[in-house]
Amino acid sequence: MNHNYKLLTPGPLTTTDSVKREMLFDHCTWDDDYKAITQRIRAGLLELAHVSEPEYTAVLMQGSGTFGVESVLTSVVGQGDKLLICANGAYGLRMADIARHAGVCHVLYRQADNRQPDPAHVARLLREDRAITHVAMVHSETTSGILNDIEAVGAVVKAAGRTFIVDAMSSFGGVDIPMADYGIDFLISSANKCIQGVPGFSFILARRSLLEQSAGQARSLSLDLYDQWKTMEKDGKWRFTSPTHVVLAFAKAMEELAEEGGIPARAARYAANQRLLVERLGALGFRPYLDESVQGPIITSFFYPVGSAFTFQEMYDYIKAHGYVLYPGKVMQADTFRVGNIGEIYAEDIEKLAAIMADFLKEAGRWAS
Ligand SMILES: *Cc1c(COP(=O)(O)O)cnc(C)c1O
Repeated sequence: MNHNYKLLTPGPLTTTDSVKREMLFDHCTWDDDYKAITQRIRAGLLELAHVSEPEYTAVLMQGSGTFGVESVLTSVVGQGDKLLICANGAYGLRMADIARHAGVCHVLYRQADNRQPDPAHVARLLREDRAITHVAMVHSETTSGILNDIEAVGAVVKAAGRTFIVDAMSSFGGVDIPMADYGIDFLISSANKCIQGVPGFSFILARRSLLEQSAGQARSLSLDLYDQWKTMEKDGKWRFTSPTHVVLAFAKAMEELAEEGGIPARAARYAANQRLLVERLGALGFRPYLDESVQGPIITSFFYPVGSAFTFQEMYDYIKAHGYVLYPGKVMQADTFRVGNIGEIYAEDIEKLAAIMADFLKEAGRWAS
C-alpha cells in the first residue's frame, strides 16, 4: 500500500504528525479530563467565530459534516416552518436532499454552479413568500471552489427577520467568519476541514435562543441538536459514544491553528497556495473554471484540456505515484478536475505538484505522438 502521499483535496486533508500522534492514546469518555477537553473545544470554536456565551453556544455532533447539516435542518426547522435553500453546487443540493428525506418543508433557489446566489433575488423570494422562516446556504461550495457572499445574503435574511443557516464546512478556520456580524444563526463545519483535524465529528455554532426554541421538534433521535446540546452543556459530556481519538486530535489541531497565528495566518497561507496553484497550472495550460472574482481560497476547478491525449485517471495515477492525490471525478456539467490546497500544504508542495504535472504532460505528449 502506498502510504506516502499528501492530499490535495478539500478535507479529509493532510494533517500534521503531531495531530496524528494524539490518536495513539485510548482516552476514556466519562471522566473530567475528557469533558474538559470537549468544553475547551466548544469555547475555542466560539472564539474563532468572534462570538461568545451566552448569546451563542457550540455543539459537537458525531459523524461527518453532512450529519451536522442534517442535524441542524431537521432539528431547527419546525413542522410549521419553511426553509429556503440557496444552492449553486452539490452541497447546496444535498441540503435539499436532506429536507426531502426528512419531510422538511422547503423551496430551492438553484443558481448556476459558477455564480453566487444573488442577495437581491433572496430578498425578493423572502418578500414574495412570507411563509419562509429559515434560509440556508453554503459558504465555500466545494463542488466548484466558489466562495459565496454570506455577508450580503445574511444582511438580507436579517432585514427580513428570518433565521440564517450556513454550511461553512470547507471554509471555517481557513476564512474568517465573524458570525454575528454576518447575521448567522447556525453555522456548521467539521473536524477534518480547515481546522486540520481528522474525520469523525461535525460542530454547530448556534444562536442560543433559537437553539432553545427547537427543543422537542427534532425528527431524529441521534441527530437531535437540542438534546445533544442540553447534555453537553451540563458538563461537556457527549450524549452517545464520542470519537475520542478524533476529539483529542482536534484539540491538538486547534492549538496548532493558534500557533500558526490563528485564522488570519492560515487564511493567508491558503490564499497564497491557491494563487500559486493557478499561476503554475496556468503556465502548463490549465485554465480555472471560475472567474477570479468569485474563486475561493480552498479548492480550484480547472478545465480539462480540450483534445488532450490522456484521461484524468492517467494523470491522477501518475501524480499519486509521485506523492500527491487530487480530488478525483467531476461533479459539475463542465469537464473539469479539482485541486484542493488546504491542510499541511505549503508553497513547496504546489511547486512540486506543478513539476510533476509538467513531467506528466511531457510523457503524455510522447504517448500521443
Ligand atoms: C465536506 C463538505 C460537507 C460535508 O461532507 P461530509 O462528506 O459529510 O463530511 C458539506 N458541505 C461542504 C461545503 C463540504 O465541503
